[in-house]
Order: sequence, then C-alpha cells, then structure tokens
Amino acid sequence: MRVGIYPGSFDPVTKGHLDIIRRSAAMVDKLVIGVLNNSKKQPVFSAAERKQMLEMVIADLPNVSVEVFDGLLVDFAKQQDAKIIFRGLRAVTDFEYELQIAQLNRNLNPELDTVFLVTSVEYAYLSSSAVRELASYGGDFSNLVPEQIQTLVEEKYKKKKASN
Ligand code: ADP
Repeated sequence: MRVGIYPGSFDPVTKGHLDIIRRSAAMVDKLVIGVLNNSKKQPVFSAAERKQMLEMVIADLPNVSVEVFDGLLVDFAKQQDAKIIFRGLRAVTDFEYELQIAQLNRNLNPELDTVFLVTSVEYAYLSSSAVRELASYGGDFSNLVPEQIQTLVEEKYKKKKASN
C-alpha cells in the first residue's frame, strides 16, 4: 500500500492546500495530512481546531485522514508507514527552503522521497498568512478558504477582537 503524508501548519487550511490534498490523494492509496504542532510557532488556531477544519474539508475524500504531530517529520513518516512526502510549490521563493528540507529529510531517511506539486495558478498567491491578515482587518477572505470553514474562521477573529 502506497502511503503519502502532506505536512504543514494549515493555520488555517486554504483552497491552495485543498488543491494539493486532492491531487496528492489521487497519487497514493492513503494520504495522511500531518498538522504540525510546533511549540516555537504561535498559531492562531490550536492544533485541534486546525485538524477539525481539515476534517471538514476532506469529508468527500475517503482515502485521506488527518493527524496532529510534533517532532521530526521523518519520525512521523515512519510512524505512518509513509514513503512519500508531498509539498506544494507556489513560487521560486518557496523552492530554496523546500529543497533544503527535502535534502535534509532524505539524508535522515533515504527511503523517503519528497514530491513537489506545482500550485494551480489561481492559488499561487494564496497563503494562510494572507488569510489571517485579511481576517484580522475584517477583509473578505471568502474566496480563499474552503466554504465549509469560512464561518469558523470568522468566529475566531470576532472572538479575538472581543477579547482585545
Ligand atoms: P508550512 O508552515 O509547513 O509552510 P503551510 O500550511 O503554510 O505549512 O503549507 C503546507 C504546504 O502547502 C507547503 O508545502 C506549502 O508550500 C503548500 N502550500 C501552501 N499554500 C499553497 C498554495 N496556495 N498552493 C499550493 N501549495 C501551497
């Protein structure tokens, strides 16, 4: 069975991520989305919230599941029995960083390969940070995130505003 993982912060999941999820899922028997719970990053959405949003948007994809992980990606891959890591490339600026990480991971586990999927052009400019920026200033981000999670994102920012 061919298992792939798609790791990231997904803070929150965007339509660009969903595009990569769909395309990756078509290439493997099983795709596990790894939600990185990194104590050094300060995400807006908790790991549980990010997982929940991902689960809402993959409901129609039977071979995709979501797990939260921390620590090394190679360890998570091993735990999931995965031999392929999927990453999305938006622009040349993503490339240098991604190349370094892919080589590092391959050095740690030569059986593990990173597959890069080039973003669909309509999502090339899209990032979780752009969504967060727009949401925090009350801008319209509705065409950037999957429909199922729009209300959750809005509610989060309303609460944040109320507590400030
Ligand atoms: P990270 O914090 O690891 O960069 P992200 O959640 O920002 O995690 O992104 C996870 C993966 O999805 C990365 O490979 C990133 O390049 C890719 N990605 C993010 N946004 C897009 C997009 N709009 N189109 C294609 N790939 C994307």
